[in-house]
Amino acid sequence: MSARAGIVYLVGAGPGDPGLMTARSLDLIATADVVFYDRLIPPGALSGAREDAELVYVGKQPGVPSIPQEEIGERLIEAAKAGRSVVRLKGGDPFVFGRGGEEGEAVRAGIEFEVVPGVTAGVAATAYAGIPVTHRDEASAVAFVTGHENPAKGGSALDWDALARFPGTLVFYMSVKRLAENAVALIAAGRDPEQPAAAVERGTMAGQRTVGATLGTIAEAVEREGIGAPALIVIGPVAARHEDLAWLERRPLHGRRVVVTRARAQASGLAATLRDLGADVVELPAIRIEPRIETEEVRRAVESIREYSLVCVTSPNGAHLLFEALDEAGLDARAFGGTRNSKQEERVESSAGVDISAEADAAASPSAPATIVAAIGPGTARALAKHGIVADVVPERFVAEALVAALAGVEVEGRRVLVARAAEGRDVLPDALRERGAEVDVVALYETVREEPGAEAVEAARGADYVTFTSSSTVRNLTDALGDRFPTDARVVSIGPVTSEAARAAGLTVDIEAERHDVDGILAALLDDAAK
Ligand code: SAH
Repeated sequence: MSARAGIVYLVGAGPGDPGLMTARSLDLIATADVVFYDRLIPPGALSGAREDAELVYVGKQPGVPSIPQEEIGERLIEAAKAGRSVVRLKGGDPFVFGRGGEEGEAVRAGIEFEVVPGVTAGVAATAYAGIPVTHRDEASAVAFVTGHENPAKGGSALDWDALARFPGTLVFYMSVKRLAENAVALIAAGRDPEQPAAAVERGTMAGQRTVGATLGTIAEAVEREGIGAPALIVIGPVAARHEDLAWLERRPLHGRRVVVTRARAQASGLAATLRDLGADVVELPAIRIEPRIETEEVRRAVESIREYSLVCVTSPNGAHLLFEALDEAGLDARAFGGTRNSKQEERVESSAGVDISAEADAAASPSAPATIVAAIGPGTARALAKHGIVADVVPERFVAEALVAALAGVEVEGRRVLVARAAEGRDVLPDALRERGAEVDVVALYETVREEPGAEAVEAARGADYVTFTSSSTVRNLTDALGDRFPTDARVVSIGPVTSEAARAAGLTVDIEAERHDVDGILAALLDDAAK
């Protein structure tokens, strides 16, 4: 399946939604030596390319000098002749208004080539707008038409009379600029001005917009709504189906731009869910996790982990790194030691709730008692579970104070307790445990350091509707890094009171605070606000 040396692949990348790229296109991109790509390819289309692949932009932009078409052909041939595998990546389908035919002809003499179709905008943007291009009752044919005639052809090669009589849906590509003249030509040739028409801008992408009108009014509607390229114009009775069948634009966060500031490694879950809800997500990581598990204190702690009667883990990162540290020391989950007896079982049950009895003492059993493992929240508990440890104590609300409360029934006096966390964590938990007579070791498994945001993401963030913060360190680092480039028009969404306080200290106004202090809480708060 992978790209072979000396071959040119003319590959369609689909209309913009990365999910509409074909399996074949992803395979070829992942294995090619060189990729020549256009402007209208989906975001992240090249992220799967080999690290050593050469990525060459050969796109055309209106009004900007670009590489002439002949030169693109020459460069494809040159690369293939040098024995490289070559992907020529184009928006939509390479053979539908994509000059794929011309490039195929250019390389055909002497070079092997293959064509990988892509989902063309005429089918995809319409589908995402709720417009079926054919319909049993309304259209038994569809025509893809260019609205932007090649000036080199001289005059118009379009037969307006035939198009006016065409018994089906007309889908115009590249037609925003000449929409008014095209509509006039169609009406003059006899097409009914009352026929439904629609414009679909940025189809299949986060910013998709559809404007409905009639053939007689569509040019004015497009002008009024400021519809710009890339956009398609659909003319025919099916265009009106948008009103019933639109779905993408009805998703709860459609059209909202949301900034995610978590560290890249953790952001993907939140970002993916937001995208599924229709949001235009800008990832602006403010922090990065720097593991610190090579230290003497960490080594000592993991090697003697069996000696702690309680181990508290305060973040999913902490959970993963604790196990990485155990692994480095040649240990695994069994290092926690002990077997849980039924008494202990009971105690642990009750410690998760509110009513904590004096049961704890009863746990002292003749055999080595199991280390109790406490997670600060469900995310951390899930991370521990991945490594084979079922957390005994998981408070409902995941702030240090809640964990302190949940641990009220666990006997710690005179016992050793390990708190495994970030270097810059708060001292609420260790302080509370020490107050109760525990001998607490705090070890830092990682440090969160500031990540410099990329210029492109900062620019995209300017137009954001929401900026989400999931920790006080992301607040501090992002506001420091952005300074006056912070998107002040966006609504600030905070995961909880500690983060909100940090935001206020940084001079921000917190518009929304999640009721549940986790990612689901942030999502719920966003949906709630967006629905208002
Ligand atoms: N080969 C591409 C078309 C390239 S021509 C394909 O098969 O889709 C470029 C034109 O395609 C644009 O002017 C616009 O009319 C249309 N187009 C491309 N992507 C689009 C999108 N996401 N939404 C709406 N129209 C799009």
